[in-house]
Amino acid sequence: MKRRDFINNSLWVAVGGLLLPSTLLQACRKPTFEPEQPFKGKVVVIGAGVAGLYAGYLMKNKGIDFVIVEAAATHGGRMGVNTTFADYPIDTGAQWLHGRNSLLGELVEATKTHITNDTSELYYWFNNSIVKELPRDPFIFEEKNLPDVSFIEYAHQQGFGSEYDNIIEAIAGDQGAAASQLSAYWNSKDEEEWVAGSEDFKFKDSYFNFIDTNFAQPILSNIHYNTVVTAIDYTTDQITILTKDNKSYTAEKVIVTVPIAQLKKNAIAFTPTLPKTQTAAFEKFGMGPGMKVFLKFSETFYKPVLYGGATCAAYADDSVGKSTNNHVLLAFVMGKQAQTLHGLGSDKAITAALLSELDVMYNGKATATFIDSVVYDYTERPYIDGAYGYSTIGMGNARKEAAQPVNNKLFFAGEAMNRNGHHQTVHGAAESAYEALLELLGL
Ligand SMILES: Cc1cc2nc3c(=O)[nH]c(=O)nc-3n(C[C@H](O)[C@H](O)[C@H](O)COP(=O)(O)OP(=O)(O)OC[C@H]3O[C@@H](n4cnc5c(N)ncnc54)[C@H](O)[C@@H]3O)c2cc1C
Repeated sequence: MKRRDFINNSLWVAVGGLLLPSTLLQACRKPTFEPEQPFKGKVVVIGAGVAGLYAGYLMKNKGIDFVIVEAAATHGGRMGVNTTFADYPIDTGAQWLHGRNSLLGELVEATKTHITNDTSELYYWFNNSIVKELPRDPFIFEEKNLPDVSFIEYAHQQGFGSEYDNIIEAIAGDQGAAASQLSAYWNSKDEEEWVAGSEDFKFKDSYFNFIDTNFAQPILSNIHYNTVVTAIDYTTDQITILTKDNKSYTAEKVIVTVPIAQLKKNAIAFTPTLPKTQTAAFEKFGMGPGMKVFLKFSETFYKPVLYGGATCAAYADDSVGKSTNNHVLLAFVMGKQAQTLHGLGSDKAITAALLSELDVMYNGKATATFIDSVVYDYTERPYIDGAYGYSTIGMGNARKEAAQPVNNKLFFAGEAMNRNGHHQTVHGAAESAYEALLELLGL
């Protein structure tokens, strides 16, 4: 939910009518993306999450013939909106714009979209009470040259006792990981590349609606829903894409944007098989359980942000940045805690577990004022299977190896494939689509 003090030194500029990241300019690519560089063939994009939508939006603008094939009945992937639970739209997946020095930050500016800097105060559940200050600062993972051990192991090496474990869990949960799985070394290497800025912003309306309006609505007729890709044969110049219901598409180029968990489990069969370096790289990614639970109460009895619960390590007041008369608390649950809640088997049981923890923290106020809840569990969500891709111990260059184009026919995009440190985010997924398209066009 929060990112702290990352480098903020890059600008994004508009070139040729399209937003072009300066980081890509710096990467020695041609700084043009002009109509006189047409691509005459057909492109099939697999997946209509933000990466697929943005790739489609760019291709539509450049007159490229494309179709997006999406397994689900809706677009958005790990983004969505619920307009009925509260008196404001709730983002069921991504909701914070992490830093505004990015392609999407520029778009927010250009479209005068209302966002609010989320400066919610952070509290901790520590030794069975709520505190504002801890004896030691637990944000120890931003140093350079940390050892390649897990977050929790590194914290223990640094002398943090088990009373800090759930706070470390919250910090790792921000990266979508259990503290026992996330590499201190590779995560901090990733963060060195982060240039979007350290502030978090909330949309007054919703992040999903922002993406939907700007990228999805202009290309709706190009999206084929309920179409699950099962195989891609790129043996010849005409690539064949096969679907679960025995449809087939042909294309000269394919952009694959499915979540890394799908590639790890070989949900799509590639012929010929993908290079070993690439499949080995997929294996190195982590993508674990994750869920968001929104709890509606009759009053705000809770702290703006509270880290350190044993059931949920990170609670946040969801109404921050919104116009609302409702009192909605978000339980942002990742890693092993999400696995445990997922294992309870029902939304009712998940809600009960969270209320029970909140009752202990806030002297019974949760149950006394509870109105309703809604659970968005990504852990085994079809065609997603987890929260977002994180760096495991021994990660090495996996991100760069995983995203390599294959035979100038297959191109990879999506949050995990982002190569400029912005993975795990919406803007990073969009940037990866931009990069894949540049590669596809040979720019
Ligand atoms: C709970 C949660 C909270 C988050 N919060 C934030 C946040 O606040 N800010 C932020 O920036 N990021 C956040 N993220 C991360 C962000 O949502 C993702 O990085 C981003 O949405 C990923 O976009 P994508 O296009 O890479 O993948 P996805 O959105 O996963 O899209 C991939 C698409 O591919 C489709 N697909 C999969 N397999 C197939 C197949 N075989 N055939 C056809 N289609 C297929 C899927 O159905 C899906 O629609 C959050 C994620 C989660 C889970």
